[in-house]
Amino acid sequence: MTTNSTLFPTQIMRAELNAKLDTYLDASLARISNAPVTPRNDLEGFRTELADMQFQTPMDLETLLQWTIGHLETGAVQMTHTGYLGLFNPAPSFPAEAADRIAAALNPQICVWSHAPIAVEIEAHVITQIADRIGLPDGAGGHFTTGGSEANATAFLCALTRMNSDYAEQGARAFTGQPRIYVSKESHLAWLKIAHQNGVGRQAVRLVPTDGQGRMDAGALADYIEEDKAGGDIPVMIAATAGTTNAGMVDPLHACADIAKSHQIWYHVDAAWGGAIIASDRERPVLDGIERADSVTIDAHKWFATTMGAGMFFTAHPKVLSETFRVSTSYMPSNDADVDLYVNTMQWSRRFVGLRLFLALASAGWQGYGQHIEHGIDLIDYLNTEMVKHGWQIANASRMAVSCLIPPAHLGSVEDMAEKIVSGGTHWVSLVKYEGRSVLRACLTNGRTSKADIDGFIAQLVAP
Ligand SMILES: *Cc1c(COP(=O)(O)O)cnc(C)c1O
Repeated sequence: MTTNSTLFPTQIMRAELNAKLDTYLDASLARISNAPVTPRNDLEGFRTELADMQFQTPMDLETLLQWTIGHLETGAVQMTHTGYLGLFNPAPSFPAEAADRIAAALNPQICVWSHAPIAVEIEAHVITQIADRIGLPDGAGGHFTTGGSEANATAFLCALTRMNSDYAEQGARAFTGQPRIYVSKESHLAWLKIAHQNGVGRQAVRLVPTDGQGRMDAGALADYIEEDKAGGDIPVMIAATAGTTNAGMVDPLHACADIAKSHQIWYHVDAAWGGAIIASDRERPVLDGIERADSVTIDAHKWFATTMGAGMFFTAHPKVLSETFRVSTSYMPSNDADVDLYVNTMQWSRRFVGLRLFLALASAGWQGYGQHIEHGIDLIDYLNTEMVKHGWQIANASRMAVSCLIPPAHLGSVEDMAEKIVSGGTHWVSLVKYEGRSVLRACLTNGRTSKADIDGFIAQLVAP
């Protein structure tokens, strides 16, 4: 009957370890910013060390903390590096990081309101404020998710449940034909997994052609729906992308809304990374039409710069959530469709994820977030202007902070160029296909990235 003091140290020991952990972390972050952005550790040696750890003999925790930070510092692509022009994995904002620690230390269980009313109400407040900023109607609701994939899966499940009242009990058999979901070819292909998960099969996903600029072709969308209906299929949902992953392009949101309304099918807008643009009054018009959606996905862990594992789902019809996720058991303290998250969402036990965005928004304000968004866009505008001067082409006409670059022929292939940059270690970029063409993709993901970082990147791109 003795407490294990490694797992549960005394308050004094805890405070000491915490202070040390802070020191190690801050020192590591400082080193990361001056080191290569890509992994450089000896994986062989690491694997041997790891294999030897069979947990038979307890090890010193302080040493383990240093061991872990040290290996992560050299053994990962660094999101906090200002040269990481990557796949929209942000350097987390400081308030979000602090929120994550608070949630970890107090560990509220927020699946039922009565267990953590303050946390549940803080999250609900953030959701309502953002829904309002999106322009969704009064009474709109939603919740935090683990990311965009969960939010998109929630949208499709709600759409299926609303479309056919027997779907909840009978699954896909409730439909007299193949249910269909319409997304563009350039959409995030988690949709295939989502269709699989929801029991309607990957065939349910119709990949609608794009217009040569990465945007869903609304005419082709209308034709697909007519054809499918004529063949006995059941159109269930259109999911427009507002900010494609590759190129930051926005599907024609009004045209897609018109088509969805005319066929009375669910209209979802996947704004997983681009949605944060609602924070900027200057740039908000790029999302014009998003306010007509039945549901919207915005990730907190992309342009809103929280720590990983934070997305958001919004809907103009919050009642559909309790129709979809209803359940009742004797061991839960309550079962209130109005406030209990476990009867309104996919998850059951829940982490207090929304605090990250609450503290960040409350401390920076919409204006501070607007500044963050515009900073990224302005740096990408600068990059584009400079590259055009050097004879490069910009393949994507996006207002988001991402550039798809094509070098002039004499500089060699984009593949070689990406290889050269990444192996140089000061910057990280990706190689993607945009409208069938290989391009170098540079995306502004770190709020600390400066004009000097971009100048360093340009210098390498234009060097013969
Ligand atoms: C990132 C992204 C997703 C997937 O979101 P996760 O948070 O990675 O689950 C879906 N759609 C778009 C447009 C995205 O950019």
